[in-house]
Amino acid sequence: MALLNYKHTAADRFMRYVQIDTQSDPTSPTQPSTEKQKNLSRVLVEELIQAGIKDAELDEHGYVYATLPATTDKQVPVLCFCAHVDTAPDCSGTGVKPILHHAYDGIDISLPDDSSVIISPIDHPYLEKRIGDDIITASGTTLLGADDKAGVAIIMDLAAYLVQHPEIKHGKIRILFTPDEEVGRGVAAIDMARLGADFGYTLDGGERGHLEGETFSADAVVITFNGISAHPGYAKGKMVHALKAASAFIAMLPRQEWCPEVTEGKEGFVHPTAMEGGLEKATVQLIVRDFETARLAKHEQRLKELVHKTAEQFPGLSTTFIVKEQYRNMKEVLDQYPQVMDYAEEAYIRSGIGVHRMSIRGGTDGSRLSFMGLPCPNIFTGEMGIHSRQEYVSVQDMEKAVEVLVNLAGIWEEKA
Ligand SMILES: [Zn+2]
Repeated sequence: MALLNYKHTAADRFMRYVQIDTQSDPTSPTQPSTEKQKNLSRVLVEELIQAGIKDAELDEHGYVYATLPATTDKQVPVLCFCAHVDTAPDCSGTGVKPILHHAYDGIDISLPDDSSVIISPIDHPYLEKRIGDDIITASGTTLLGADDKAGVAIIMDLAAYLVQHPEIKHGKIRILFTPDEEVGRGVAAIDMARLGADFGYTLDGGERGHLEGETFSADAVVITFNGISAHPGYAKGKMVHALKAASAFIAMLPRQEWCPEVTEGKEGFVHPTAMEGGLEKATVQLIVRDFETARLAKHEQRLKELVHKTAEQFPGLSTTFIVKEQYRNMKEVLDQYPQVMDYAEEAYIRSGIGVHRMSIRGGTDGSRLSFMGLPCPNIFTGEMGIHSRQEYVSVQDMEKAVEVLVNLAGIWEEKA
């Protein structure tokens, strides 16, 4: 079912939303990490209220909650559609000037404010599939913020559509806009009881047709090497150098396997992210990633063996090995509720697009939400080239995602 006679608002909204700077800050201790994220959230609440969604509210932690009431008497599980308002700290989000390129013709797109920034179908092969679409880019000096204002605009357009079309039968839908996804704290202060949803979908994926229901499982490891200090002039037979031990350990990590540089697909890895210290004490921080949670322990065992080998080379050295759980593969939760992915797949098909079930070599807010009681895969938005000045989005992809959500809400009602 296409959305007949509906003039989409996603592109207009998107062009406005990206001009509001919502960059998050990993070094900030506040919640949300930057106050300016609320500038967009306040606009969203205002627009939702204007559209007739009276309970739209922004809470003190920077979350927007709103409800599309049920239009059916059936008992339908409450769905949540979720997107994040912040943009990545890696690239400036100040003074974004969105440019709409009508009916993209397949050639390189050069951006006016910095002619060295070129969005080429050679580097971005997905663009070739979008020939004829209207493409939005930034102007060359900033990111665009399609990640994830495309998701925000899609959900806002969906809300406008459903308010205007009460004849479409659906259960209660909760809208959630979160801050700080890009700094890994997007779910830090969500009030799950206030949200009151049974199943969720994040709108934060890339290519049309992609449906992501699998993420890494993730641990962090901190290894501490404790040496023995002595005056360097009189250290013979006494000194045990912690930093040298930590370096020896790092040097033992393979470079042809088991690391991000040479793994892909479903392969896991370990990855040192920081080393610091001196003579007496040195620490190495690592992240451990795999799609199978059980394999994390195997990776950690292998790391412990290397620590043991290191200790053998440095008599007198003592070590500690601490594992911290970071997040888990959302598939473990989604497998218990296969309808969440199945209905999404059905919605893609009814919207006339092929479905590609994808796995994410990383974590999402959805992986954390899934383990907080809200099974939550990720739907495409068209956002591409994210976290860079080459970021772009297709207007038609955003509109297609709105259609998918309308169908998805309908399917949950039908099957209830
Ligand atoms: Zn995102």
